[in-house]
Amino acid sequence: MVLSPPVLQTHSHSRQFESNVYVYPVLSRRSGGLSIGINLNVDKVCNFDCIYCQVDRTGPPPVFRVPKTVSTLDIDRICAELDLLLQGLAPSGPLWQQTPFSALQGAQAVVRDIAFSGDGEPTTVLEFESIVKRVVEVRNLRGFAATKIVIITNATGLGSARVKRALAFLDDQNGEVWAKLDAGTTEWFQMVDQTRLSLDRIQNQIVACAKIRPVVIQTCLFRLNGYPPPDTEMEAYIDRLNSMVTNGAQIRTVHLYTVARPPAVSAVTPLPADTLRDLGTRVSNATGLSVETFP
Ligand code: SF4
Repeated sequence: MVLSPPVLQTHSHSRQFESNVYVYPVLSRRSGGLSIGINLNVDKVCNFDCIYCQVDRTGPPPVFRVPKTVSTLDIDRICAELDLLLQGLAPSGPLWQQTPFSALQGAQAVVRDIAFSGDGEPTTVLEFESIVKRVVEVRNLRGFAATKIVIITNATGLGSARVKRALAFLDDQNGEVWAKLDAGTTEWFQMVDQTRLSLDRIQNQIVACAKIRPVVIQTCLFRLNGYPPPDTEMEAYIDRLNSMVTNGAQIRTVHLYTVARPPAVSAVTPLPADTLRDLGTRVSNATGLSVETFP
């Protein structure tokens, strides 16, 4: 079935593009333009259950709902979908003349990155390493070797040997890790991300990863029942970032963003742009890190 072409908007991250299952174009605030997403979690299952999660889980039951121990992925199809999209989005490629791409102007009319980002945590997929390698092959074959590959991760898998191997491979292939750090205290982390894991464990895994290559830290800030994050929480978050740097983490930049699409829990609402900007300034001043905010 071929669906109507979507309009690319930052407040709509539809995973649907034509009849693709895994690969979709998206206009991404944090990528700064057009990003090609690869959704390895088409069953919409995640090992977190973040209260701000903006994955649309309201649709019909996923057709791929099978245990994680069983391969749910058609790697050849992932590569074929990516291949077609990259062919079409090469400079002077035919897709630039078609909706929705023809509406993009200037810096937006460039593929900024290929991102493993979808409806769950990509590193939970058992075939993660082999998929990463195949995706790099396709990217390079289609002349996009300079386009970075971003792993958007909640950091739970960074300690696993197969994920470490995949990241080591990407280090020589223009790869980048964007790791989620949503809190300063374990209490806030467990409430926000709905997990029993300790934040220290997540922090240690990010630090170990970031000793090897610079990472981008991603933090979602929002109002909960109308209130911004508590001051004590922001202080603990800043302390945590400083501790990570002291322990050897290379932090390329910190992305502070808020919700742009309907979240899982209705008590979560966006932070006003000026509040987010002020928090960004506070974090930057207290850590010396580069901080970007995405209202
Ligand atoms: S880790 Fe990402 S996909 Fe998973 S629940 Fe949280 S926001 Fe949603």
